Amino acid sequence: MKIVTVIGARPQFIKAATVSRVVSERSDVSEVIVHTGQHFDQNMSDVFFDEMEIPKPNYHFSINGFSHGAMTGQMLEKIEKILLKEKPDWVLVYGDTNSTIAGALAASKLHIKVAHVEAGLRSFNMRMPEEQNRILTDRISTALFCPTEQAVKNLNNEGYENLDIDIKNVGDVMYDAAMFYSEKSEAKASFKKIEGDFVLVTCHRAENTDDPSRLRAIVNSLNEINKAVKVILPLHPRTKKMMEKEGLSFAFETTDPVGYFDMVELLKNCKFVITDSGGLQKEAYFFNKPCITMRDETEWIELVDHGVNTLVGAKQEKILAAFSEISNKTIDFPKGLYGDAKAAEKIVNYLIENN
Ligand code: UDP
Repeated sequence: MKIVTVIGARPQFIKAATVSRVVSERSDVSEVIVHTGQHFDQNMSDVFFDEMEIPKPNYHFSINGFSHGAMTGQMLEKIEKILLKEKPDWVLVYGDTNSTIAGALAASKLHIKVAHVEAGLRSFNMRMPEEQNRILTDRISTALFCPTEQAVKNLNNEGYENLDIDIKNVGDVMYDAAMFYSEKSEAKASFKKIEGDFVLVTCHRAENTDDPSRLRAIVNSLNEINKAVKVILPLHPRTKKMMEKEGLSFAFETTDPVGYFDMVELLKNCKFVITDSGGLQKEAYFFNKPCITMRDETEWIELVDHGVNTLVGAKQEKILAAFSEISNKTIDFPKGLYGDAKAAEKIVNYLIENN
């Protein structure tokens, strides 16, 4: 049985590493990896392949720096050629990026089975490129691997029960990754250990970086917060570029993006997390850290429902109010929201059984 996996962006490398590890232990399945090059540099791409021991991509493009349409179109054309040559049984795509929709669409048009990992998530904000990608990918897939019960519900609400698409709640591959790599992270981390309390922050989502007023409110808030608790912020290249364009700066030192082992160590040791990342919201929960999310909505609604995540949008007064609330509150973390850390195994078993 042969799988072609299409990945291109940082969170997809982390997710795909979990499945690649299971595949590498089995003799009845082979994997061909296509890296679209959406993220390409050392600290956004190579570091994950090295640390997580993901096999070197069999095909590696350099499709980045274009508009969404141009990027997706170029990927589609190149992936189609590979699929015609490789003739896989399944095409495996992850998450919600342009690489996800391009891989799924190329396969679907060739009548090759598509499996979507992290299916069924919805922010209900159709302006987000991620929301467009995930909805379209779900609809043209053959098998949908949902990370949560809520994701299954979302699909059923859209009438998926009536479609010939197999839906499985396998749990979240990010949980697999966090559990597996957290055992190794302390020995492998390269980031200098931080003394004292700190808050871990990431910010990269287009709705924040590409809107000057939101970006300004976020920068001002973080500068305020840093007066009370040290802020550690691995800065995404997009945010850095947009801040330079807007003449904004942090009143503290940021770092370059870090590798996954460093990230896991930062998560384990921080006081709490402030982010607009999808992945970080869950990872905060995996490591029992409260999270403030600088977005107007989230796909990971169960975290908000259980009171471990607070949605604040990008308004300074809301960010700062959530910061003071969280600083003085003890939070109970519910167990088991994202499965049993065996999602990758379940996915590979399903693909083999349904070949
Ligand atoms: N991440 C990392 N280093 C960083 C920032 C993020 O390893 O400097 C990891 C993070 O722990 C999570 C994933 O990258 O597992 C999330 O990626 P990102 O925030 O880019 O995307 P999203 O989850 O929002 O799609």
